[in-house]
Amino acid sequence: MFCKFIHKRFSTLSLAVVGSGPGAIFTAKHLMKKHTNIVVDFYEKFPHPFGLIRTGVAPDHQDVKNIEHEFSHILSLPQTKFFGNVIVNKDTPLNLEILKKNYSAVLLAYGAHGDITLGIKNEDCKGCFNSRNFVNWYNSSFDRISNDKIILNKTEDCVIIGNGNVAIDIARMLSKSFEDLKQFDVGDDVLEIICNNTIKNIHMVARRGVNQAAFTTKEIRELHGVKGLNTYIFEDEIKNSFEADSELQVLPNERRQLKRKVDLVKSFDMINNVNQIKKDGRKNLFLRFLNRPKEIISDNTGTISEIIFNKTKLIKGQAVATEETTSIKCGLLFKSIGYKSHSIFDTVDFNSKSSVIINDKGKVSENKVISDNLFVSGWVKTGAKGVLDTTLREAVDTADTINKQIEGGFLKNKTPNYDEINSLIAKSGVKPISFKDWEKVSNYEIEEGKKKGKIRDKVTDINKVFELIKH
Ligand code: FAD
Ligand code: NAP
Repeated sequence: MFCKFIHKRFSTLSLAVVGSGPGAIFTAKHLMKKHTNIVVDFYEKFPHPFGLIRTGVAPDHQDVKNIEHEFSHILSLPQTKFFGNVIVNKDTPLNLEILKKNYSAVLLAYGAHGDITLGIKNEDCKGCFNSRNFVNWYNSSFDRISNDKIILNKTEDCVIIGNGNVAIDIARMLSKSFEDLKQFDVGDDVLEIICNNTIKNIHMVARRGVNQAAFTTKEIRELHGVKGLNTYIFEDEIKNSFEADSELQVLPNERRQLKRKVDLVKSFDMINNVNQIKKDGRKNLFLRFLNRPKEIISDNTGTISEIIFNKTKLIKGQAVATEETTSIKCGLLFKSIGYKSHSIFDTVDFNSKSSVIINDKGKVSENKVISDNLFVSGWVKTGAKGVLDTTLREAVDTADTINKQIEGGFLKNKTPNYDEINSLIAKSGVKPISFKDWEKVSNYEIEEGKKKGKIRDKVTDINKVFELIKH
C-alpha cells in the first residue's frame, strides 16, 4: 500500500510532528491510511522514539511495550522520517515558524512531562520524589536522576500519595523481587538498588474514598497478586467512604465496573490499626482513603520523617478536609499525583489551568485565531489521563480533523526543504538520529539483553548511542 516510488515522485502533502509517542504515531497511522502519499516527519527530543512506552510503562508490562513493533513499522515506512535527539520549542532554531514554512501542517504531540506539586511544606526535602522522576529512573530514561539520589535502603516505611495506576506501578516495582524483575528491561544498576530496598510497609494514600479510587481493576488486582505482599484496608476508612457516598451518582454502565473494583478492594484484609498485621515477614501494602496531605516533617538531616494528613469527608464526591489529623512516619515519599504538560510556543493558545493546548477536535488556535494547519494529539491535547486505548481514540479524532482539512483543500502541498532543516538542526549543535540509527541501538540492546537472560539491556549513555551508530 505504501509505495516508495509514488512518494518520492509525487508526494507533496507533508506533516511535521513534534514528539514520537503514541499520540504522534497513532495520529500519523490513521492519517496515512487515507492519504498514502503524505510525508510524515517526527521530531523527537530523545534519541529514541515511542515516548512513555519506553520511559513510562513499567518494565513488567511488556504486553503494553510490545506496541513498539507496530510503531516501528510506521517509522520504517518510506514516507516517514524520524529526527531523534532534536528538541523543538520557541527557543530552538527549528521552531514552529520554520516547521509551518516547510510542511503542509504541524502536529503537536509532545505529551506531558512536568510535575504537579502538592503545595505543602517540605515537599521537596530529601527522600521525596515525584512519580515521574522515579518512573524515569527505573525505566533508565536518558533524563533520569542519578543512582546516588535514589536511597531505598534506609527506611522500612514509604508513602505513596495518590492511587492512580502510576502509584500502583511504583508500589509493584517496590514489592517485586529480583526473581520477578530480572528478565525484563530493568538496568542492572536499577535492579540492584530496587531489589535491595528495605521497605516493609507501603502506605498508598488517597484523599478521596474507595468509589473514587483512580486505579483500574486490572492494575489493583495485579498488585494484590504480587507474591510476598500482604494487602490491607482500614475499617473506618472503608465505612466512611460508603456512608459519605450514599448519594453517589454512577452511570448504569459504569456501575458494574465500579462494583467489581470496590469488591476487590473490600477483599483485602480489613484492620483497625497497624498492630493487627500478620507477622509473616512479607511486605505490607496499606490502601488508605480519606486522608489529605497537610505537612511533611523532616529530621535534622533534612530527610522526610513523617507526613501529617487531614482526615477528609466526602461532599459530592470531593474531599473536604476536617480538623482531625493523622500521621504516618516514613523515610520515603512518592508523590504520584499526575503529570502535566506545558506550553512550548508562545503563540499557541494554552490553558495553563488544565495544562492542555486549547483545541477543537485537535484543531489548534494561535493568538486566538483558529489555524488551518496546526493540530494537537496525545496528552498535550487531553491532559495526562488515559491508557493507550484512550490516546488512540483521541488520535483518531485528530486524524479525522486533519483529513477534513485535506479534503476541504485547506492544506497546501509543501515539500520540506531538508537542506534548511538539517542546517538549522546543526545550528542547535545536535546530531539527529534516524530511525535506522535507533534500530541499531535497539538491536544492540536486545542482543546484550539476551546475554544476560533479559528482554533488553538499555543503553543509558548518549555517547554510547553515537558510538553504536558511528556518526
Ligand atoms: P508521550 O508518550 O509522553 O510522548 C510524547 C513524546 O514527545 C515523547 O517522546 C517526548 O520525549 C517528546 N517530546 C516532548 N517534548 C518535546 C519537544 N519539545 N520536542 C520534541 N519532542 C518532544 N497506558 C497503558 O495503556 N498501559 C500502561 O501500562 C501504561 N503505563 C503508563 C505508565 C506511566 C508511568 C505513565 C505516565 C503512563 C502510562 N500509560 C499506560 C499511558 C500511556 O503511556 C499514555 O497514554 C501515552 O504515552 C500518551 O502518549 P503521548 O504521545 O501523548 O505522550
Ligand atoms: P491519575 O490516574 O490521575 O491519579 C492521580 C492521583 O493523584 C489520584 O488518586 C488523585 O486523587 C491524586 N491527587 C491529585 N492531586 C492530588 C493532591 N493535590 N493531593 C492528593 N492527591 C492528589 O494519574 P496517574 O496515576 O499519574 O496516571 C495517569 C494516567 O496514566 C491515568 O489515566 C492512568 O490510568 C494511566 N496509566 C495507566 C497504566 C496502566 O494501564 N497500567 C499505568 C500507569 C498509568 P483524586 O482522584 O482525588 O484527584
